[in-house]
Amino acid sequence: MPTFVHTEKCDGCKGGEVTACMYICPNDLMKLDTERMKAFNQEPEQCWECQCCVKACPQQAIEVRAYADVVPMGGAVIPLRTDNAIMWTIKFRDGEVKRFKFPVRTTPVGSIDPYGNKPEPGDIKSNLLFTETGKTLSTI
Ligand code: SF4
Ligand code: SF4
Repeated sequence: MPTFVHTEKCDGCKGGEVTACMYICPNDLMKLDTERMKAFNQEPEQCWECQCCVKACPQQAIEVRAYADVVPMGGAVIPLRTDNAIMWTIKFRDGEVKRFKFPVRTTPVGSIDPYGNKPEPGDIKSNLLFTETGKTLSTI
């Protein structure tokens, strides 16, 4: 089931040109109604429920209504993403609420150097990947 927006929580990302949900959706589904400053899923049938927008929304205004065989009517599964962890809030039909928190990274935010200790890009005609070292096939 696709996402929907709790309009009372959505603030249109405070007037930003590209909202967090628009930026993150891999399928370009989220759109901002600029008159009401409320976002909505413009093509719900294309939503694959990846939850990216749910996790990215700073107002926690987006929810995915999960399929009934996973989350029966009246229940809810809601993620809350922080820099270091994700908290899943599970609401059961009888009102019981459980929370599960999992770390999502082992290093401080911004500390990873993806090109650290990697060689400089070299011969464009080489058949080796740039992380591989050794003779190129063209020199064998
Ligand atoms: S990310 Fe959240 S607050 Fe921002 S526009 Fe989308 S639904 Fe609204
Ligand atoms: S759940 Fe994924 S595919 Fe669906 S609107 Fe959000 S980001 Fe896009």
